[in-house]
Amino acid sequence: MKIKFLGTGAAEGWPAIFCGCDACKRAEKFGGKNIRTRTSCLIDDIYMIDFPPDTYMHKLIYNIDLSKLKYVIITHSHSDHFYAYDFEMRLEGFAYIEDDSPLNLYGNEKTKELFDYALGHLDMEGVVDYNIVKAFSPLKIGDALVTPLPADHSKGEDCFIYVIQIDGSTLLYGHDSGYFPEESWESLVQYEFDGVILDCTFGTEDLRSGHMGLPANIDIKNRLLKSNAASIDTKFIITHFSHNIGLMHHEIEEIAKAHGFIAAYDGFEIEI
Ligand SMILES: [Zn+2]
Ligand SMILES: [Zn+2]
Ligand SMILES: [Zn+2]
Repeated sequence: MKIKFLGTGAAEGWPAIFCGCDACKRAEKFGGKNIRTRTSCLIDDIYMIDFPPDTYMHKLIYNIDLSKLKYVIITHSHSDHFYAYDFEMRLEGFAYIEDDSPLNLYGNEKTKELFDYALGHLDMEGVVDYNIVKAFSPLKIGDALVTPLPADHSKGEDCFIYVIQIDGSTLLYGHDSGYFPEESWESLVQYEFDGVILDCTFGTEDLRSGHMGLPANIDIKNRLLKSNAASIDTKFIITHFSHNIGLMHHEIEEIAKAHGFIAAYDGFEIEI
């Protein structure tokens, strides 16, 4: 499974859209890996996890052919994870696509409401189809087996983390979430993960509700190792960083490395 991190910032981006703080000014000055757009990942070129408002920019920066994109798996409705309006641009006249199969979206009911609000006046059927998913119900999406599990995030909707299995590789896409709910752990310990992506919005702070920091990430790593759901070969990756952590990429990278984590950055690619 080939994973490309298109964005690795929290909702506000980094430098944050309206912010004048020191962390944003330093990121601007140093550039490179310190510039973090809103979070999403591309897997094997055809599966996208989340669809942030920066997706068009991601296409430009990474030279991604989104006419080849087949599936978008959505974690929750927050604006940094789902920007519905751009799907209109897949209609005829805006997009000429060789393969006439629809782009399939998968997500919760709240995100479907946003989809309908933005696009309900258009005939999207067969162009972009929305599929509602339920926690603990695995779905076959292309060659992938995808299982949504409950996240600890926003109370107003069913936010999901996802177990994604493709060709014998197993990935846990674990954000946005605080320390995982016990009901999710019952499922999680039954897998053998090759890769685990975790929410590190709070950086080195020990916060674990709604989002996480590194201490909660370490606890998750240890629990997965202890229950044999992970091994020394499992790649643990942290992402979704907020400017509030105040650390430049090389600083968080060094701290993460000392605890066996890889700090993702925009454009980072890994094979698991
Ligand atoms: Zn987010
Ligand atoms: Zn800032
Ligand atoms: Zn969120």
